[in-house]
Amino acid sequence: MSEIPMSSVAVFSPQNRDWKSVVSESFRDLDALLEFCEIDGLRTEIQANQEFTFRVTRYFASLIEKGNALDPLLLQVLPDAYELQMVDGYSEDAVGDRLSMPLPGLIHKYHGRVLLTLTGACAIHCRYCFRRHYPYSESNTDYCVNSEVVKYLSRHTEVNEVILSGGDPLMLSDQKLANLVTSLNQVPHIRSLRIHSRVLSVLPERVTQGLINTLHQFRGRVVFVTHINHPKEISEPNQTAFHLLSQQGYRLFNQSVLLKRVNDSPQTLAELSNKLFESHIIPYYLHRLDKVQGAAHFDLTAEESCRIYKQLRNRLPGYLLPAMVEELPGRASKTPVLCD
Ligand SMILES: *Cc1c(COP(=O)(O)O)cnc(C)c1O
Ligand code: SF4
Repeated sequence: MSEIPMSSVAVFSPQNRDWKSVVSESFRDLDALLEFCEIDGLRTEIQANQEFTFRVTRYFASLIEKGNALDPLLLQVLPDAYELQMVDGYSEDAVGDRLSMPLPGLIHKYHGRVLLTLTGACAIHCRYCFRRHYPYSESNTDYCVNSEVVKYLSRHTEVNEVILSGGDPLMLSDQKLANLVTSLNQVPHIRSLRIHSRVLSVLPERVTQGLINTLHQFRGRVVFVTHINHPKEISEPNQTAFHLLSQQGYRLFNQSVLLKRVNDSPQTLAELSNKLFESHIIPYYLHRLDKVQGAAHFDLTAEESCRIYKQLRNRLPGYLLPAMVEELPGRASKTPVLCD
């Protein structure tokens, strides 16, 4: 263990584990996960989309209830033969991102903020994800050397926030993130760096002193947006990580996706909001599923979504109610789903 630099070790981890070695121990094979979860009787020969492989962190797997083939966390990562069915109305670029990419990996759709996709890598592969068909190999750019991005941002003085998305930006090394921070620090009107990451909740070991030191180098404010869909995704290790980030002065928000059989009940979503709040996270968005090919089996109708959302609204104070939105191509913002 002594060869691991302390800064790459989770600050709260009693085991002093290096996050990259934790990633390398992830499940990459459904059978192994099912065995770990003590679930038999599921068809495991399913040949889901080969481009979108199987991947689950040890931590996320540990939160799956043993023996429960319908566990809401398991269902998010379980490949399904439905993924291969072509369903009308579902496409490969459901949100029209490929049309708003002035530079590879830089999406500029909304006023005042741009989204950078720095990597296609994720710590977990969520079967409903709209990025499953994303042409990462065409769009990845090495931002450490890319002065085009800095030039673009410098020209666009109306942009004051850079959002790191992915893939998962926290799969990048601290060194790569440090290079990015150095680039952003050259553009005075960028006041906010927002990090959208599922790693925060599924790989809490990533929250290291090195990460915090790196982000402290940014001149402006840093905002985190976690991606948690179910209250059972929160337990002590990631709560400790959220607490730590909050203690450092960072604001945390959460976005969820409304998913059939996973979190399609007002009770579950209300419990999620409360648990997020106890973990220093403000519920931000509840997304309706993007109409991406291969994910239709997670979708709910507009009527079902509104029925759930209205009941949720009746259960929660306004500050715990996420805004239900959908992402429609060609719009200037996320589109609120108005349920009246
Ligand atoms: C969702 C998204 C954003 C961020 O939208 P907010 O409403 O600010 O959270 C920015 N750019 C793109 C391309 C997006 O899809
Ligand atoms: S981008 Fe987010 S939702 Fe999609 S597979 Fe990666 S972690 Fe899951």
